[in-house]
Amino acid sequence: MKKHNFSAGPCILPQEVLLKASEAIMDFNGSGLSLIEISHRSKDFVAVMEKARSLALELLGLEGKGYQALFLHGGASLEFLMVAYNLLEKKAGYINTGTWSDKAIKEAKIFGEVVEVGSSKDENFNFIPKGYNVPKGLDYLHLTSNNTIFGTQFKKFPVTDCPLVCDMSSDIFSRVLDFSQFDLIYAGAQKNMGPAGTTLVVVKEDILGKVSRKIPSMLDYQVHISKDSMFNTPAVFPVFTSMLTLEWLKNLGGIEAIEKINEKKAQLLYSEIDLNPVFDGYANKDDRSIMNATFNLTEQDLKDTFESMLKEAGINGLNGHRSVGGYRASMYNALSLESVGVLVDVMSEMERKG
Ligand SMILES: *Cc1c(COP(=O)(O)O)cnc(C)c1O
Repeated sequence: MKKHNFSAGPCILPQEVLLKASEAIMDFNGSGLSLIEISHRSKDFVAVMEKARSLALELLGLEGKGYQALFLHGGASLEFLMVAYNLLEKKAGYINTGTWSDKAIKEAKIFGEVVEVGSSKDENFNFIPKGYNVPKGLDYLHLTSNNTIFGTQFKKFPVTDCPLVCDMSSDIFSRVLDFSQFDLIYAGAQKNMGPAGTTLVVVKEDILGKVSRKIPSMLDYQVHISKDSMFNTPAVFPVFTSMLTLEWLKNLGGIEAIEKINEKKAQLLYSEIDLNPVFDGYANKDDRSIMNATFNLTEQDLKDTFESMLKEAGINGLNGHRSVGGYRASMYNALSLESVGVLVDVMSEMERKG
């Protein structure tokens, strides 16, 4: 039986993407060769990379606005240090909204001074800081748009006089934003775009080349741009599969269309969490993520019953992260409204039993 996959990452991908990706493993474009055994310099793969890069910019509405899209290695975790390596000369600002921001801060401190402009650490990251002042003269301000582990999400972004850098690993392509307010966006593929193994970086070219340090080639955004994201062998399968997901999203009607579905899914689940006395939400209501909903049982005695019902219903990946406990329903783009309906049915059945 096909499961309802609420996994936080790696996560659900559209069925048609999985099908096309598996076909390309066996026979790519009718070439009699596998996608993963041809040269990345071959015409067919170069076309894949070009398509993936241009679709990313097109979907974000950033074509012709001075941005470049790259598919790099090393996950979002490598971007924590690449961002600082390429942009941090003296002082950068970070908003600390959870585990991933914390890790980004740790890496940036290797390269320069870090000012924590805002933090929600005191409340175990159950809200998004507001009302902070962004100091003048920062090299950049970094934030994490969606906090995968705690289930909070920025709804509004600060206006700054410095470049704005955003880790969008877990909500890129999920909601309509003016993406041109960001100067650098990065996202590990495995949350909302493809399999693990590649990271999308979208960067405005004019913010680069300003630090005085020497940057090793593999960590230098300008090198990757000059080589059309093919400085070394790219992760061909993750890039191809990401391209398929972006095509799927475009055919669906782009971010506008998926946002409507994502909002429906989130509304359905959060209204159950709020109305059902057996469950309690974790994140501050105003800051709730439409991608990752965190909640817990009000009575721990019901744990075994709930978990066996989840299993029975074919629901996978609902365990919360160890730093929060409880449950986390990740509702990435490819998860259907119907799957959320199945979860909500189990939750309301719990109320009848509880
Ligand atoms: C998962 C995640 C990361 C880490 O991604 P890797 O690709 O495993 O390095 C970073 N930031 C956010 C917001 C994430 O959700």
